[in-house]
Amino acid sequence: MHIPTLTIPEIRRALLAKEYSAQELCQQALAEAEAGNPSTNAYLHFSPERAMDAARRVDALIAAGADPGPLAGVPVAVKDVIVTKGLRTTCASRMLQNFVPPYDATAVERLEAAGGMIIGKTNCDEFAMGSSNENSAFGPVRNPVALDRVPGGSSGGSAAVVAQGTAVVSLGSDTGGSIRQPASFCGVVGITPTYGRVSRYGLVAFASSLDHIGPFSRTVEDSATLLRVIAGRDERDATSALAPVSDYAVAMQQDVRGMKIGLPREYFAGLASETGDLIAKAVDQLKALGCQPVEISLPHTDYAIGTYYIICTAEASSNLARYDGARYTYRSANADTLEDMYGNTRDEAFGAECKRRIMLGTYVLSAGYYDAYYRKAQKVRTLITQDFLNAFQQVDAIVAPVSPFPAFKLGEKMSDPLQMYLSDIYTITGSLAGIPCMSVPAGNTSQGLPVGMQILTRHFDEAGMLRLARAYERATS
Ligand code: GLN
Repeated sequence: MHIPTLTIPEIRRALLAKEYSAQELCQQALAEAEAGNPSTNAYLHFSPERAMDAARRVDALIAAGADPGPLAGVPVAVKDVIVTKGLRTTCASRMLQNFVPPYDATAVERLEAAGGMIIGKTNCDEFAMGSSNENSAFGPVRNPVALDRVPGGSSGGSAAVVAQGTAVVSLGSDTGGSIRQPASFCGVVGITPTYGRVSRYGLVAFASSLDHIGPFSRTVEDSATLLRVIAGRDERDATSALAPVSDYAVAMQQDVRGMKIGLPREYFAGLASETGDLIAKAVDQLKALGCQPVEISLPHTDYAIGTYYIICTAEASSNLARYDGARYTYRSANADTLEDMYGNTRDEAFGAECKRRIMLGTYVLSAGYYDAYYRKAQKVRTLITQDFLNAFQQVDAIVAPVSPFPAFKLGEKMSDPLQMYLSDIYTITGSLAGIPCMSVPAGNTSQGLPVGMQILTRHFDEAGMLRLARAYERATS
């Protein structure tokens, strides 16, 4: 078995044909993941016992002639902001470096019930704040495609393990682009589902009105399979949607001929680069498949970054207030008073980006500023959402770049947080609107760096998005 090229259907076929057992596959996956990790630092820790338990369950079901589940024997990695019972969950922060959660996230529970084997937890930006994975308290991740470059962020580890071939699929989280952008930088598929499509129960909160869990994989089909397993209403997350989850496998067989594809003028205006050329080529490919490109406008795009950084910092400052040293976190040893304990704990255990966002968020929520900033940003968010709803009156899907540039060098943008924020321009709008969006590999630059094409569709139309992505993948591979 060659794990870097394995897919979910291939694993299923081989297990049922008894070519190897889930336990054999699991052992090999763990060994290769551990051996490969020093080069990328993509895993923060491994979970051999838990993975082997899952493998034994799968083998027992197969031996008994029962259906072992849609993810049977699939090596999965999980971003370390998603809680796992009895398995350390750090959010790549010193604050939670010894936190062992007492329960599993719903997505984790569902993927294990479907036969998935969690082999480890992946590195990310601290509390998912960042675009390069350089904000991890445990060192950056290196992009397996080019080791001197970042894998993107914040789910850099989850993208890197799939690109490197040490996991077949993985889970990440996306608040403003943290699944799509690393997927684009590492040359893999990554999906941000509709807000509410996947339960956030057990996803450590960064900005609750924007946080999503979603899959990474090497093929569109594998992401669709994982998404279907984790999607759907969950009583434990009141924002999880009742909308039925369709059979994506069926949707992906359907033709894309006649689909209207919106190309947002605002996104393509300043994109004279190799990235722009690759996206233009992808659009030509879609045309050859019978899709009809239509120029559209998303007029409030310019306000997206400002809006996002007000809303996400406000929500982050509120969510991160729970890390006070009193409960399950790191606690400063240098404090004689309660107030010093709070202050010193936060000072010692949060990294610079978390502190920056807590301060910004506290400011925009403070008395007198709430209306000027937070409420105003919520109104602009509604306008941005409305831009998409208007566009979807004319088109079935929107195609766009994911990032203005491919993976950059480690250290290149760290000294300028604003520059880093601006790089999220194409992903943040979809997150603010809460619509499904994904990144599909669309070729490499002359330097061999992957570039992803973004596809966005109407709320809850993951099926349409996957149909287009699969048709494109089929035509280009
Ligand atoms: N890069 C964006 C940020 O730093 C998005 C992060 C995310 O989606 N979690 O907020």
